[in-house]
Amino acid sequence: MGNREWIARDLRVLWHPCTQMKDHERLPLVPVRRAEGAWLEDFDGRRYLDAISSWWVNLFGHANPRIARAVAEQAARLEHVLLAGFTHEPAVRLAERLTALAPDGLARCFYADNGSSAVEVALKMSFHYWRNRGEPGRTRFVNLSNSYHGETLGALAVGDVALYKETYEPLLMRPVTVPSPDCFGVPRAEWDAHAERLFAHMEAALERHAGEVCAVIVEPLVQCAGHMRMYPPSYLRLLREACDRHRVHLIADEIAVGFGRTGTLFACEQAGIRPDFLCLSKGLTGGFLPLAAVLTTEEVYAAFYDDYETLRAFLHSHSYTGNPLGCAAALATLDIFAEEPVLERNRALAARMGEATAAALADHPHVGEIRQTGMILAIELVRDRARLEPYPWQERRGLRVYRHGLERGVLLRPLGNVVYFMPPYVVTEKEIDLMVEVAAEGIDLATRD
Ligand code: PMP
Repeated sequence: MGNREWIARDLRVLWHPCTQMKDHERLPLVPVRRAEGAWLEDFDGRRYLDAISSWWVNLFGHANPRIARAVAEQAARLEHVLLAGFTHEPAVRLAERLTALAPDGLARCFYADNGSSAVEVALKMSFHYWRNRGEPGRTRFVNLSNSYHGETLGALAVGDVALYKETYEPLLMRPVTVPSPDCFGVPRAEWDAHAERLFAHMEAALERHAGEVCAVIVEPLVQCAGHMRMYPPSYLRLLREACDRHRVHLIADEIAVGFGRTGTLFACEQAGIRPDFLCLSKGLTGGFLPLAAVLTTEEVYAAFYDDYETLRAFLHSHSYTGNPLGCAAALATLDIFAEEPVLERNRALAARMGEATAAALADHPHVGEIRQTGMILAIELVRDRARLEPYPWQERRGLRVYRHGLERGVLLRPLGNVVYFMPPYVVTEKEIDLMVEVAAEGIDLATRD
């Protein structure tokens, strides 16, 4: 069977995520038969360079043989067992390795099975910690404007991207939302000053809501789903210091930015800070399987450790918590980090991405900004470059870039008016050049009228 048949069968029974299904009356769905390295292949033999790591999950290439082998060997030995009352080797080994790699003091690992669930765990754990410590009045969370933390109701509530959130607003708890330190339009040399200025809002919110707040939740350095907006590590340092001073937790959602995306293994390292909760998923398994981990401190753990009758235990369970196949994929992924100079190689790839993009697009009349943090590069399309005036979202300029990408064999999936690259780390310089060339053509076409 070729693409046509699979598309027809799909559209009869499937309902796709993040999709207005009516779009597929005209927009071709791409059925993928196999994949290898940075490339996807459809049922008609056409290939697509995966410039966005399949929603930012893939690190070391599709069907990476080493990870595939680890999963297959694990599947033949133990595919799954519940993690309550029972344990298994991959869960123990992975918790040992994650706590050793994470910022000092994150000594406990709680598993979940996807990013949103990890955020739910961190929110509940923080609230429950304060309750166990005799402060049940702490029921609120502080978040940043333009943040994204997932789409289950709790995670959606602490996010701030209207597209995903607005419809469901009546169902959601209300966070205290503080203006993001987003540095769009600010020259790099002024990022720290900008972040420090914006931090005044955070300070004021923490002061105003003293005693009510459980935690502040942020995506360190890059607000990915929020159009890849970026801010400097200095904001995180100020935030850590203020969270300590006001006695509230800091939740770092590194679901998208963790595992090398920003240039360091974890983004928090660039600020030299340790959050109270570190949420990990996506790249954790190299993009093979859904798995998540929430790392926290012994101090948090101790607040739940008591006699059964006190009912202080943390009650949160997903059937597939700590799934052995996911843990085996994660261990193989960490082996690659341990044995290969991944971050060093990425520095060269990131430099190439930056240079090639600047050469192709820095002077484009409809490119308002090119920004980059490590292996994440974003190109902001604007109607008016001088005033950084955005295109109205209804025009769907990004979709035109997406379509052009598919025609030329590159998977780009712009977020509104922002075209971005977040490729797997196995991408080559030649592939980066192709990615940039096709994006530049797409941007030309999309901004012509
Ligand atoms: N937090 C961040 C920062 C994310 O980027 C995402 C996913 N895009 C999530 C949470 C949610 O993860 P999941 O899609 O696995 O639920």
